[in-house]
Amino acid sequence: MNILLFGKGGQVGWELQRSLSVLGQVTALDFDSQEHCGDFSNPAGIADTVRALRPDVIVNAAAHTAVDKAESEPDRARLLNATTPGVVAQEAARLGAWLVHYSTDYVFDGSGTRPWVETDAPAPLSVYGRTKLEGEQLIQQSGCRHLILRTSWVYAARGGNFAKTMLRLAQERERLTVIDDQWGAPTGADVLADVTAHAIRHLARKPEDGGLYHCVAGGETTWNSYAKYVVSHARKAQPAIEIKATEIAPVPTSAFPTPAVRPHNSRLDTSKLRATFGLTLPPWQQGVARMLTEIL
Ligand code: NDP
Repeated sequence: MNILLFGKGGQVGWELQRSLSVLGQVTALDFDSQEHCGDFSNPAGIADTVRALRPDVIVNAAAHTAVDKAESEPDRARLLNATTPGVVAQEAARLGAWLVHYSTDYVFDGSGTRPWVETDAPAPLSVYGRTKLEGEQLIQQSGCRHLILRTSWVYAARGGNFAKTMLRLAQERERLTVIDDQWGAPTGADVLADVTAHAIRHLARKPEDGGLYHCVAGGETTWNSYAKYVVSHARKAQPAIEIKATEIAPVPTSAFPTPAVRPHNSRLDTSKLRATFGLTLPPWQQGVARMLTEIL
């Protein structure tokens, strides 16, 4: 199996380099790759790459993920999150290749408390959410064989993340204030990459199972409870660590105004993915604890 991976240096892209490697020959590209264009701001160059490599499977982990920045550069966000994925989808359709793509809880408006299912109507609140939704739609309209995984609150041991920021702040300050009115599930890039590899194998046997799926870790939390979990786990796992913080106070989203509006309810129902692919999505604490052990 020939696999073409875009966005190899991102959180998910990095883990995909590992998980896809056992499926076949992987060509992994980033925006500055030399031999083949991997730059999503150059849709014609990306189309040339697909035509030259003729992959069986394309996995796209490249995206404009700077949610607040997207508000001030909507054209670039649209190019990276919608236009170029749409071009990749057209090339995939022409080749008969599979396209695996990632989308987001930000396609929803965050109303209510019920976990969103795939058939719920999207209503994005931000440029990022709108451009990611448009990307989904262009892929679906292209007629290519595809798998779109909507996920949320992605973290990885590599690079910066919320848990690392909380750990640093907890060592510097006595009191932290963290939002407690946004609900979701922190999801490890490693689990997303492993689900992707399993799903690709499954789809080779059962192509009729392609489509749109929600894929997040089990359970739910708020950023505030997530921060508390990180700090208490760090205390237990690494007693030598000097935590100054004695309070992680809950505050509403309105306490931290940001250019992009975030959904309050980012819960995603993963029943469809688990039933179709026969996979288990572990509780979010399991992956976060493992990541903390790795970074402490
Ligand atoms: P990252 O930001 O870690 O990865 C995105 C990658 O795309 C980065 O390597 C980035 O490079 C790269 N990129 C940026 N500009 C270009 C370009 N012009 N051409 C090619 N590549 C480019 O994001 P994640 O790994 O977390 O996200 C993977 C997928 O999951 C995305 O589709 C995202 O929308 C989705 N998702 C992510 C969530 C999250 O919380 N992170 C939540 C929900 C969905 P560089 O870092 O150098 O800019």
